[in-house]
Amino acid sequence: MKTKCIQKDLIFYLDNELSVEMRTAVEKHLEECADCRSFLAFLQEGIQIIEKEKNPEVTPFFYTRLSARLEEKPVYQTQSQWVRLAQPAFFSLVLLAGIYGGLKLGSNASSPKVYQQATNSAQMLNDFATEPIESFLLDEL
Ligand SMILES: [Zn+2]
Repeated sequence: MKTKCIQKDLIFYLDNELSVEMRTAVEKHLEECADCRSFLAFLQEGIQIIEKEKNPEVTPFFYTRLSARLEEKPVYQTQSQWVRLAQPAFFSLVLLAGIYGGLKLGSNASSPKVYQQATNSAQMLNDFATEPIESFLLDEL
């Protein structure tokens, strides 16, 4: 008679939480059942991974070196790093602003609508000055 599968007991078997009788029964079943053997191997693999995660292998002196670097880092070094980072960013920002401004000026000058607006306002300002010229030109034509 094939014994009942004990997969749910295997985790307790690995943790040594089973009574002696249960343990013997599990071991006896494992001898007979390939399914439970492979499941036990799977559980053991998982437990090994968990144990590895719990106790990660740190390279020697890694923490010492890391904490030393964190503590010894002078303030001026971080400042110069900031300047090193900020300076090119600032200059490229200025450059971009210059390019943008130039493009905007160029598009304003070439855009007929804005040009018309500018001439309209200029005409409004110089209404008296331009009107005689215009009427003079119209008279000529
Ligand atoms: Zn089984």
